[in-house]
Amino acid sequence: MHVYHDEDADLDLLANRQIAVIGYGNQGRAQALNLRDSGLQILVGNRADDYATRARDDGFKVASIEAAAAEADLLMILIPDEVAPELFARDIAPHLHDGKVVVFATGYNIAFGFIIPPQFVDVVLVAPRMIGAGVRDLYLAGRGFPSFIGVAQDYSGSARAVALALAKGIGSTRTGVVEVTFAQEAELDLFTEQCFGPAFGHVLTTSVNLLLEEGYPPDAVLLELYMSGEFAYTLGKIAELGLVEQSMLHSRTSQYGSMSRGIRFVIPELRTKMMEGLEEIRSGKFAQEWAAEQAAGTPTLQALREAAQTLPLIDLERELRQALGDVPAAARMEYRSQPAAPTDGPARSKGWLSRILDRIRRLPDRRETGARSQPAAGTISESQMEEVLRRFLTSAEQSAGLQAFAQERELTTHYLLRDSQLEFAMGFRHGEVTAKLGPPPSPADVTLETEMEVLDGMFTGRINAMRAFMSGGISFSGEAKLAISIQQIQDDLRQLYTDARNTVV
Ligand code: NDP
Repeated sequence: MHVYHDEDADLDLLANRQIAVIGYGNQGRAQALNLRDSGLQILVGNRADDYATRARDDGFKVASIEAAAAEADLLMILIPDEVAPELFARDIAPHLHDGKVVVFATGYNIAFGFIIPPQFVDVVLVAPRMIGAGVRDLYLAGRGFPSFIGVAQDYSGSARAVALALAKGIGSTRTGVVEVTFAQEAELDLFTEQCFGPAFGHVLTTSVNLLLEEGYPPDAVLLELYMSGEFAYTLGKIAELGLVEQSMLHSRTSQYGSMSRGIRFVIPELRTKMMEGLEEIRSGKFAQEWAAEQAAGTPTLQALREAAQTLPLIDLERELRQALGDVPAAARMEYRSQPAAPTDGPARSKGWLSRILDRIRRLPDRRETGARSQPAAGTISESQMEEVLRRFLTSAEQSAGLQAFAQERELTTHYLLRDSQLEFAMGFRHGEVTAKLGPPPSPADVTLETEMEVLDGMFTGRINAMRAFMSGGISFSGEAKLAISIQQIQDDLRQLYTDARNTVV
């Protein structure tokens, strides 16, 4: 394990070299200001708009991206990753020549081959593990923040030293810098976003849903789990002291309870799912899928964002924030004394609590988690479900809507109803639909697991499929994009299923 500090980096390497910061957003502004305060020559390259004006107001010379690329010796690419490949090819690559240095703040575009710089330049990585505002605030406070550095091309023989000097210029070697490859940086970043974060988010929403269903007051549930800020504070202590050491800050009851019960949550499937995610990342499958999604105008992202906005948790959080009058200081990682939060006393929180309890009682979404405590209207038995599915699948094979969906597509879906013996498969291949009870004839591309009540609710329109999916009422394995594509035929499936159901129930 090697961590680089100030004494490992030499700012003189950058003296008399023109540095262009391309993009004056979150990272661009923070890094440009820090580098200038470290005594370096900075030119900002940006389109002529508000960002350019801000850079000028901050006292920088501003040029077009092309002009900055032509003038500078070092080019720090600090624009969003999704626009960088096109911009690099159009405005930057034509101005590169021997000895220039291209600096990225993420390994993504190089690691997945979306940008291929010419061989006669150095290509380095300086990737802060800190948001832009933190990069600037910590620098001004005389403190640092960790960064990853890396070298993808060392044409000059001094690429690593240049990356370290830049890391020093932005203030990162004050804390410590670790060297990685571009691929490692990109893969670790995506793993955090796609595996660690969502797995953790699911633990949180499962806990909230379970406790609300068991009748605990929503304000107490949210405060207990995360909105008091105690959990954020504990995470800070984990970073500071270590996972085990910080547990000594908790009571002996807490220590005994969490250690003796923790073993229950060692679920091997979690590792398998994480490995699946990591393989998608490493193989470039995710990067290709995301590129295609962007080329299509991000329809899936929009659908996912809309579905996320409908989660009942959002309203609960909003109302609790309002009732508290302020976000607890610990949740913002601020421990200074804050001005007292405005409040209109107990009457306000009583009104808020009863409103929210009312809402919980009325929530149709409780069923969407697959909860069993509240049976759905018109609950269907297993034998009825079998007959409904038999009729539904027969009509699905003849459906013009489903056949149209099957054009230019090869997709096999497998539905498993985990609270029964029932399973069925639907295949969409070159305009043909095959739909049968039982397992699929060949391995499915997407397997959806749910319960009879959730499937019935989803196929009759009582339950929003996407929301049930996001709150864990449906779990799936296989390709996420393919699973989401089934949304396109949701209306057809709903109609066919409802017709079949009406003849049976
Ligand atoms: P921002 O979204 O803040 O970037 C905005 C800047 O990009 C503006 O200057 C904007 O200028 C410019 N820009 C946006 N679209 C275009 C376009 N089509 N053509 C030209 N310029 C464009 O980016 P971040 O600072 O968040 O990220 C920059 C890099 O830093 C990325 O590689 C990111 O992965 C990395 N990074 C980001 C971190 C973060 O905390 N945000 C942390 C660590 C790394 P205008 O719209 O005027 O053209």
